[in-house]
Amino acid sequence: MPHRVLVPFGGNAAPAHWLGKNHLGGKGANLAEMAATGLPVPPGFIIPTPLCSQYYEAGGQLPSALVEALPEGLAHIEAAVGGRFGDAANPLLVSVRSGARVSMPGMMDTVLNLGLNRDTVEGLARRSGNRRFAFDSFRRFIQMYADVVLGLDHYLFEDALELMKDDRGVHLDTALSADDMEALVGQYLAIVEEALGRPFPMDPLEQLQGAIGAVFGSWRSERATVYRRLNHIPEDWGTAVTVQAMVFGNMGEDSATGVAFTRDPATGERAIYGEFLVNAQGEDVVAGIRTPQYLTKSARERAGAAGVSMEEAMPGVFAELASLFALLERHYRDMQDIEFTVQEGRLWLLQTRTGKRTGKAALRIACEMVDEGLIGETEAVQRVDPAVLDQLLHPTLDPAAPREVIASGLPASPGAASGAIVLDSQEAERRAALGEAVILVRAETSPEDIAGMHAARGILTARGGMTSHAAVVARGMGRPCVSGAGTIRIDAAERLVHTGRHTLSEGAIITIDGTTGQVMLGEIPTVEPELSGHFATLMEWADRHRRMKVRANAETPADCRVARQFGAEGIGLARTEHMFFDPGRIVLVRRMILAQEPAERAAALAQLLPLQRADFLEIFNEMAGLPVTIRLLDPPLHEFLPQREQDYQELAEASGLSVATLRRRAEELREMNPMLGHRGCRLGVTSPDIYGMQARAIFEAALAARTPPFPEIMIPLVATRRELDLMKTVVDAAAEEVFGAAGRRLDYLVGTMIELPRAALRAGEIAATAEFFSFGTNDLTQTTLGISRDDSAHFLAAYLEQGIYPRDPFVTLDVDGVGELVELAARRGRETRPLLKLGICGEHGGDPASIAFVEGLGLDYVSCSPWRVPIARLAAAQAALARAA
Ligand code: PEP
Ligand code: MG
Repeated sequence: MPHRVLVPFGGNAAPAHWLGKNHLGGKGANLAEMAATGLPVPPGFIIPTPLCSQYYEAGGQLPSALVEALPEGLAHIEAAVGGRFGDAANPLLVSVRSGARVSMPGMMDTVLNLGLNRDTVEGLARRSGNRRFAFDSFRRFIQMYADVVLGLDHYLFEDALELMKDDRGVHLDTALSADDMEALVGQYLAIVEEALGRPFPMDPLEQLQGAIGAVFGSWRSERATVYRRLNHIPEDWGTAVTVQAMVFGNMGEDSATGVAFTRDPATGERAIYGEFLVNAQGEDVVAGIRTPQYLTKSARERAGAAGVSMEEAMPGVFAELASLFALLERHYRDMQDIEFTVQEGRLWLLQTRTGKRTGKAALRIACEMVDEGLIGETEAVQRVDPAVLDQLLHPTLDPAAPREVIASGLPASPGAASGAIVLDSQEAERRAALGEAVILVRAETSPEDIAGMHAARGILTARGGMTSHAAVVARGMGRPCVSGAGTIRIDAAERLVHTGRHTLSEGAIITIDGTTGQVMLGEIPTVEPELSGHFATLMEWADRHRRMKVRANAETPADCRVARQFGAEGIGLARTEHMFFDPGRIVLVRRMILAQEPAERAAALAQLLPLQRADFLEIFNEMAGLPVTIRLLDPPLHEFLPQREQDYQELAEASGLSVATLRRRAEELREMNPMLGHRGCRLGVTSPDIYGMQARAIFEAALAARTPPFPEIMIPLVATRRELDLMKTVVDAAAEEVFGAAGRRLDYLVGTMIELPRAALRAGEIAATAEFFSFGTNDLTQTTLGISRDDSAHFLAAYLEQGIYPRDPFVTLDVDGVGELVELAARRGRETRPLLKLGICGEHGGDPASIAFVEGLGLDYVSCSPWRVPIARLAAAQAALARAA
């Protein structure tokens, strides 16, 4: 067996899983591992991922070495299961499936029942004693092959099926007879021949080659390409192909097919969870065409469902399945998502993979697996993706809020979301791009909907089960989803949604609750999440392994409170300008800015002083002795200028200046390029009295605070040491004045943001004055890349698509460019001042990948928005653990 092009598994094949996922694809590596573990896997062979690249290099042709090796691969399967490929008496049928390094659910193509033709179908009919089943399989195969390999529309075949059902006066496929199926096969073959001008390929080897090529080709399909872009999967990985013996779940009442999770993927509960269908093939479950039944009796009873559970219908096979669950978890040490088939009472596992789960389930499973001794505490910390915490930290529906439930379905992905109804993916993307919250409402979703699902706040479907496409993808994205809301009907032509009593137009606001499965009219108020239980446990473990501190960017008492609840260990950035916009004081701010005489500015500042002092006092009291970094005024003054005529009138009255004078002054302050204009410490250089007032307010508040605080005063947009020296003089003078008058002193630090490339380069000399650096990576990214923070949205998508930057550099630090400046500044700063405190307070401070990078630089803390604090705590712990490993 040439190992380069085909890797056999199952039967008497040697263990091959050591070749790894990158070579065998995730699915292939798993099958090989399952076979090596002794699990009942149908035998097969894997065509490794490098062959996918070879296929593309050859302009979409199968490499000849592969074509030559196929008979040998088939011989391996034949030896293990007994049938023969293409044999009319005892035909072997195979499935041909994709399998990239990472799972891309539903994104690429699959062909089942391959090897059927006019002769082999008769053999299958004879051997199974079930002619109807044989022709049903052939019918399904023709449709799938025509769709996937020959590029024909599946509606052509579905229409023929519907006509046949109408003709026979039946509703269900299962009510069609063997003769009906045989007649359908004839019709399907005629459809193919008419559409293509040539007959359907009857040579099984030709079928096999066609299917392998189509699976390789589907790697570059549009939907797979979109999925890769959203999930940052490189183009050049390619997919492996798995060719495997078919086993049949549709061989009668002792046959079945199902999907199962070893734990509940929504809640994490340690209970067998899943769905199955008697006398069906796998795609029937996933596609949500027939409503599947529960695996366990207790789950069925809890749901009040009528259909018999697998535990009741097939107790022996169920017991075998349950024992395999335990084996799978012990072997993989994680929750598994499996596909199984029962063929005439014999259980086969078709696939196992690490199960996708909600954030809540991820926490519970990680914590309980530690309790069960399956994994250790650090492994639990490393296992939970910090991004999933986002789902838990977001509000849920206020239980006390009145609501009108208009429909209900399955709780497919937890969390609540409100938004305008949109009926297709394009509309979802269009409206979301305009900033509108939308709920994507579909009969059922298909992989083509992936971009729309991403754009939507939530997803509602009329059909499908807990493991249907919509449910799996929504859970992966953390989008709330209600699936299978059977009473809703979508009128695509009129763009209406009927819910029984209500008729809603596209654009109407609804709320969905993916935790209960309810759909409600209008927008429902929400409540904050509860941060105890498994969340608290995992956070505690994370904190034990974390080196960096985590602070929050906050300036209101409410945000400070949230930050502390989420475990912030200080404030890393209080943007004082946010306090200037308060409606009660904007007139004073404007008077200060537009003052013509020093005395007038002084008068305005004197009135602002007590207000600022009160702001700072609230923050200090809220933070009770934790460090608080307060940044002095940063943005360009014109941002505060009057906008409307009424603003000018009010200001004229307050200041005694004429509207004309005020307008002229405002015009003088206008800038062509405000981001690079009169902002940051440049304001302090030209108007030191503003920074003087702020510093004074900080020190007076600090002395008045209940617990003595630790203020860190931060100067923004510094490029040179001289700027910082001047500003430090202003701050120190205010401190001396306040401390002198009070007869008491307090420790404080004066430091700077590093947010300009020059500051990073000259960090060595700036650190002679600065007692701390906080990397303002928003501005540092803007100025290093020369890309406006505010205008990048128009072109950044094209940059990401073309791989110019791997991620949005305003979300994840551009490690190669901006990262090098951060590294250099940290190093030079510490050379001058070994104990220089270093932190990051740009948006990147809450991004796990960026956190991992700054852990590597040895920064002292990260600071991020209050809601991201838990994410940062976990990411910082993971980064520290990874670094120690
Ligand atoms: C920064 O530039 O990264 C920063 C934190 O400051 P701001 O976002 O307020 O400009
Ligand atoms: Mg900045």
